[in-house]
Amino acid sequence: MTGLPVRPEFEGRSPYGAPQVPAAHRLNTNENPYPLPDALLADLGAALGAAALDLNRYPDRDAVALRTDLAAFLSRSGTAVTPAQVWAANGSNEILQQLSQLFAGAGRTALGFTPSYSMHPLITAATGGTFVDGHRRADFTIDPEAAVAQVRELRPDVVFVTSPNNPTGTAVDLATVTALYEATEGVVVVDEAYAEFARPGTPSALTLLAGRPRLVVSRTMSKAFGMAGLRLGYLAADPAVVDALQLVRLPYHLSSLTQAAARTALAHTEALLATVDAVTHERDRIVAAMPGLGLTSVPSDANFVLFGGFADAPAVWQALLDRGVLVRDVGLPGWLRVTAGTPAETDAFLTALGEAVDQVG
Ligand code: PMP
Repeated sequence: MTGLPVRPEFEGRSPYGAPQVPAAHRLNTNENPYPLPDALLADLGAALGAAALDLNRYPDRDAVALRTDLAAFLSRSGTAVTPAQVWAANGSNEILQQLSQLFAGAGRTALGFTPSYSMHPLITAATGGTFVDGHRRADFTIDPEAAVAQVRELRPDVVFVTSPNNPTGTAVDLATVTALYEATEGVVVVDEAYAEFARPGTPSALTLLAGRPRLVVSRTMSKAFGMAGLRLGYLAADPAVVDALQLVRLPYHLSSLTQAAARTALAHTEALLATVDAVTHERDRIVAAMPGLGLTSVPSDANFVLFGGFADAPAVWQALLDRGVLVRDVGLPGWLRVTAGTPAETDAFLTALGEAVDQVG
């Protein structure tokens, strides 16, 4: 592919690549569009200034204070989580990579149910493992019986479950997670990057952690917290998982600036998560508008909507971009994905979509 002696598993692969093209409305990477509250910005300035005084020293390698704050945040859900159960890294991508380094890798197999987060296969390959595609129903839900049968046959070392799933948006019910857990001797990683946006009555896999030492729940501050630029992901699991991860994490992987900024953001949890209701309201507005445009969508528990019914989705993608609206073509024939943001963004998107449908047909 490059003439370089790269590992064969990278032949023909493309890097993760949401296009970063200029557009008036960027609705393609599931970011939170709301600006950070002024009080948080002021506190960040002070906290980063204070942390800067110690930049001649390595950071706390174990990020104990941050993990304590993250455990307190997770415990607000009603499921008690201790700092020893929490691990943090540079985005949940790094969390997933560390898990793959520890549990997948050469000669090992990871199972995921595509279409799902495209980094799961790529991280598996990058850490030397083999990724296998799981089955989904035509409506993109996981059929628990088929999935369990596949797990029993394949005996994967890692099972990825994305809930709410990206790019389809729907949460996976906990009965499916427990059925997969019972069917495998491997590790079940529930990627809950979008958990905070789930519709009421959609419990997190955090509630399943007790007594399940091979279950891992991955979270991020990139989405609901609106801090994608911070690069802070974390997991909750049995303390033994956290201990074992120390074998693969790079020493001092989380800079003191990141730790300080994340702790400051967590101190403003209330204000940051106040945008979740506004975003989910816009998500539901987008879903509700689809039939009127002759289109369909997939039920969403996330901050985005997979919408479709297109004969030529790439043409609609281009027609939207021509009108200043950047959405994501996730490579599913007939479908596109849009991030839910502000009311003004929804207005712009729906107007552009109506015109795009008329133009492309
Ligand atoms: N998991 C899922 C399902 C995602 O969609 C994303 C980002 N798009 C991530 C993990 C990684 O997010 P981050 O590294 O910013 O935490």
